[in-house]
Amino acid sequence: EAQLRPPAQPTATHCPYCALQCAMDLTPAEPTADALPVEVSGRDFPTNRGGLCRKGWTAAELLRHPERLAEPLVRDGEGALRPASWDEALGRVAAEIRRVQAEHGKDAVGIFGGGGLTNEKAYLLGKFARVALGTSRIDYNGRFCMSSAAAAGNRAFGIDRGLPFPLADLDTADTILMLGSNVAETMPPFVQHLAGARAAGGLVVVDPRRSATAQLTDDGAGTHLAPAPHTDLVLLLGLAHVVINDGLLASKYLSERTEGLESVIRSVAPWWPERVQATTGVPAGLIRSTARRLADSARTGSCYILTGRGIEQHADGTDTVTAAINLALLLGLPGSPRGGYGTLTGQGNGQGGREHGQKADQLPGYRKITDPEARAHMARVWGVDEASIPGPGLPAVELLRTLGTDDGVRALLVHGANVVVSAPDVSAVRDGLRRLDLLVVCDFFLSETAREADVVLPVLQWAEEEGTMTNLEGRVLRRRRALEAPAGARSELWIMNRLAELLGAPSSFPTEPEVVFEELRRASKGGLADYSGVSYELLDAGAEVYWPYPAGSKGTPRLFAKRFAHDDGRARLVGVRAATPAWSPSHPAPEEFHLATGRLLEHYQSGAQTRRVAALSAAQPEPRLQLHPAAAARLRVAENAWVRVMRLGEGSAQGAAPSSGSRSAARRPEVLCRVELTLDIRPDTVFLPFHFPGLAAANQVTESRTDPISGMPEFKTTRVLVQPAEFP
Ligand code: SF4
Repeated sequence: EAQLRPPAQPTATHCPYCALQCAMDLTPAEPTADALPVEVSGRDFPTNRGGLCRKGWTAAELLRHPERLAEPLVRDGEGALRPASWDEALGRVAAEIRRVQAEHGKDAVGIFGGGGLTNEKAYLLGKFARVALGTSRIDYNGRFCMSSAAAAGNRAFGIDRGLPFPLADLDTADTILMLGSNVAETMPPFVQHLAGARAAGGLVVVDPRRSATAQLTDDGAGTHLAPAPHTDLVLLLGLAHVVINDGLLASKYLSERTEGLESVIRSVAPWWPERVQATTGVPAGLIRSTARRLADSARTGSCYILTGRGIEQHADGTDTVTAAINLALLLGLPGSPRGGYGTLTGQGNGQGGREHGQKADQLPGYRKITDPEARAHMARVWGVDEASIPGPGLPAVELLRTLGTDDGVRALLVHGANVVVSAPDVSAVRDGLRRLDLLVVCDFFLSETAREADVVLPVLQWAEEEGTMTNLEGRVLRRRRALEAPAGARSELWIMNRLAELLGAPSSFPTEPEVVFEELRRASKGGLADYSGVSYELLDAGAEVYWPYPAGSKGTPRLFAKRFAHDDGRARLVGVRAATPAWSPSHPAPEEFHLATGRLLEHYQSGAQTRRVAALSAAQPEPRLQLHPAAAARLRVAENAWVRVMRLGEGSAQGAAPSSGSRSAARRPEVLCRVELTLDIRPDTVFLPFHFPGLAAANQVTESRTDPISGMPEFKTTRVLVQPAEFP
């Protein structure tokens, strides 16, 4: 009988997690009591070439997870969440939205979106905010991820696409400068694209830690530059200084294709290598040899500069990324057939998520919300009066600061985000959520944010829905349904449709992803991120689709070959200045450190998903503070010892270390966790992964200080005290 059964057909889709969007097949599994509903296998594709990381291999475990939400929950009079029907839950949401807006105005309702939502959901969420709610208060967790790189890209090139070239172009590189990116842990299949540069001895990794990616430079494969914390901008100014001083500029390129060289010459002049060494700790000789290698490679070989969260998640992140772009422009890389600059997007749809209207200052097609032409275009697509489209809202951290305040957001709808873990200064965020009149969370698990909600709406997972994602190359991909969702779960598109109807929205909200995509095509037409030539049919036929893809075109795998996106076609060099480094390499007190937060191989974002996967959780069940043995000796702590990590600066008594367990210690923003000793970190620095909640949440101690240009929070340079602690 088994022989007569037709072979199970795999569904070709992509991983639910990071921006590499590895291609995978989902094959229906034999239905047994303990079998997963589908089997995952890697699929050959130009980005992952069949490879998956352990997050991808185990992704199916979440589809029928026992903690999966399968019915709406509403908070009852006793303060507990209880099951409810969809009619009751949505009726309560709509009624409360109407009341809050009647009493406090349209902007008293806000939306917090996510960089993992499909293009269709991101688009419809922006429309829902502006058309159904009439609020300007929408932003998303991508603001925490790569907003500074987006702002720097827009400033330099007039457009922001993570990699403006196919990932496979890196294969031919003989030199790759990677700044603050740890792909060996965050997206391991990416590493195969570094093989050429490693073979040529040209992988240069800039990271204060000897990260897994920095270790790829061992054995002659390249160079690891380990600047002191938050001196990456100075290091970049130093590299540019050498390029200019040694006459290594791409002069013809600069005169034909750029503006602003003089401002960069002025800004890097004070940063000769010996002075950079004094600030960063990177030897002057290494700065010179690295700059010369980059220039040689740019002239005669193939050279790329890539940035990641390590240099982007700063309160001067836009300027730091701008310094990297300046260096690339000085070398003539952007738009070159054998080189370029790119930023490595993190979240699954980090690229598409920032193109279709989820951002506070944008309309679909990557249009500015203040642009009269863009507003008129969207008014036509949505069939509404242009004046009814709200103006710019608030970037994520500012939006969260207003929660529950008199003239702030009083009702918040959260889609695809877990801000109680992922936002900076999470205690303040939780306090804000608790002040709200209404918190609605759409999720498939009871995340830490959902636990705070008044209404929880269960939604579909990636293998249960159709849609599109845009990966880190700006390549549009099809997400496909491989199995049915639990009976009680609904798609976000359906939820928005029902709420829009209950709220009497003046425009339609389709529930079918392909219909939403057709509207997205019209909305994006003529914008920077033009998808008007893309269709499900084209994607299903296997076409390689990179935006901009205007109707009638073949798309744009490589941007900038002839011109940049500014009106005059030229790129902008922008001279940036380094503030006094936030941290002196010789810190004053033995208990003071510089804290950087970041990621682990086993976990994705807030960990709401990966902490529920048995194998991943077993491998990394808790956050541990990475500490150098010399620092541990100073603190008198051993491997696995418990420590208390306390934020210094505003709101704390700097230098006056409280004793463990004292009342003043309890009032400080602090984390309790165990120690992992490693030689791969500087003695003045500690590292803590941010995927965990509660007492061990790294974002208990991060600050809500943000970059004034992009709104990016400072996640990489928090000054902390570390002290031995008792088992909590
Ligand atoms: Fe690929 Fe990222 Fe998924 Fe890992 S998490 S399999 S690197 S897409």
